[in-house]
Amino acid sequence: MKINLLKIPQGGLELSESLAPSDLDIDSKEIIFKKPIEIKAFIEKGINAVTVNARLNSVAEVFCSRCLTPFETKIDKKYRFVYEVGQDDANVDISQDLREELILDFPVKPLCKPDCKGLCYKCGKNLNVEKCSCKR
Ligand SMILES: [Zn+2]
Ligand SMILES: [Zn+2]
Repeated sequence: MKINLLKIPQGGLELSESLAPSDLDIDSKEIIFKKPIEIKAFIEKGINAVTVNARLNSVAEVFCSRCLTPFETKIDKKYRFVYEVGQDDANVDISQDLREELILDFPVKPLCKPDCKGLCYKCGKNLNVEKCSCKR
């Protein structure tokens, strides 16, 4: 998402953009985006810096770290980036930063529900769905 610095008025600029996950190169085996990534950004220009307040919305499918069941999770994140800019800078591209923040923000061990019982380590049954008779 490129921001044209020459088009930012005194009071700031509001931008909306819808990015495909592939635009941010963010799809992976663990995270599958189900919807475009909607970005709303408010950009303010100071003398030597540009401040970007961005809000991201999307829906992604992830795999529960305990029972391995895929489930959808809503993404609603707010980020703030500050870029130093000089007189000659005409553009700022926030895509790379968005990507990094999104990846950093993703839970390492997502859970389909807080009290997910997981899989039986002996027979592999999903204990949320059925009980097994293994001694644990
Ligand atoms: Zn689970
Ligand atoms: Zn079992």
